[in-house]
Amino acid sequence: MDTQVTLCNKRDTRGIALSHKTSVDNALFRHLVENSNIPLIGSAAGSLLVALAQMSSSDSKLVFGWMLLVQLTVGFRYLLVRRCRARLKNGDFDFDQARRYAWTLGFSGIAWGLGGLFVLNSTPAGTVVIITAIQAMVMGSALTLGAFLPAFYAFAIPATIPMVTVLLISREDSNFVLALYSILFLLLFISIARRFSRSLSDTLQLSFEKEELVNALTDAYDQQARLAKTDSLTQLANRRHFDEVLDKEIARLQRSGEPLSLLILDVDHFKAYNDNYGHIAGDECLKQIAGVFQRNLNRTSDLAARYGGEEFAGVMPGTEHPGTILLAEQIRADVEALKILHGKSLTAPHVTISLGVATFNCAQLKSSSHAVAIADKLLYRAKTEGRNRVVALNATNATELLAN
Ligand code: GH3
Ligand code: MG
Ligand code: MG
Repeated sequence: MDTQVTLCNKRDTRGIALSHKTSVDNALFRHLVENSNIPLIGSAAGSLLVALAQMSSSDSKLVFGWMLLVQLTVGFRYLLVRRCRARLKNGDFDFDQARRYAWTLGFSGIAWGLGGLFVLNSTPAGTVVIITAIQAMVMGSALTLGAFLPAFYAFAIPATIPMVTVLLISREDSNFVLALYSILFLLLFISIARRFSRSLSDTLQLSFEKEELVNALTDAYDQQARLAKTDSLTQLANRRHFDEVLDKEIARLQRSGEPLSLLILDVDHFKAYNDNYGHIAGDECLKQIAGVFQRNLNRTSDLAARYGGEEFAGVMPGTEHPGTILLAEQIRADVEALKILHGKSLTAPHVTISLGVATFNCAQLKSSSHAVAIADKLLYRAKTEGRNRVVALNATNATELLAN
């Protein structure tokens, strides 16, 4: 029985248990793709603003060309995001796709980085617009692309570095301060993106662990519930389950008016079999008989149970009497056909069984034990009349019930 919950302790560098790594990465990428609209709109609108601010101080063709480049990367990313979404919907995410998406963010970052070069000839107001726009892009990407760190780095670093380089080489004090400020800003948002990514993956990991735990507990519970109903030797229903089902079926059929057939079978001269061949051989014999019994009671509403020792009982709701007799006869013949040698049987050279079968109108039954007692009496008659036989009673009529 495997009811133990094993939580994997091996973790990757982010502290993610290896058993959940793929699920966490999948979910992070899903988060990234599902939150891509804001950075896309931000990129499109931001490049428009920067272009407007630069038109007067820089070469307008150059500015327009740059804006077109940013818009092109936005369009390209938009198409890829749509494809990623469609594939995620079908559940066929793969890491190559994630990597491709991160690359396109790199192109976007480079396009923005080229925009940073405009600070060279810009007016002070234009410089503020460019720096603010690039930093706003980096800030937004920390909180949206940060879910998938390679995507964040691919955008944020190439977007910032050209602007910082230009500011540094201009050798103006005020630009040096701006460069420093931009570097600090980038470092701050790298740290925020890392924290964001970490807390998101921790949360995802926790939810996967919880799901794993719940599944393991549900499996353990199901297994226990199944064991509580099953006979360990034969894997048939046990006596407790048989009693529950019989009570339930009688109550149900009292309302519907359908008949209920009950069958009890007992192995003939089984004590002698055990004494002669040993208990283990006896168990094997019971398992084979249980197999025959189960195979014959094959309707979903039928129940085959081990009633105790070498006695088995079957409940067949909605089965009419003639059908029940045929079935009982088939079970008897099938057990005989197993040809299990029984040198000490007084009935046959092989193992045989006796069966008592009755069909009831449940509305006339006093209780389930009343039905069992009647089937048991029929079994007793099968024994006294010579064994290896079926004794049946159609007790759907009240007088037959009272007579038994
Ligand atoms: P009859 O034909 O009248 O039914 O005779 P019998 O010998 O089968 O009847 P009895 O009730 O005297 O014997 C039942 C035997 O079944 C006694 C016991 O040794 C055996 N038995 C009961 N449960 C098990 C079991 O789980 N495994 C094995 N191997 N034997 C069992
Ligand atoms: Mg018995
Ligand atoms: Mg017996």
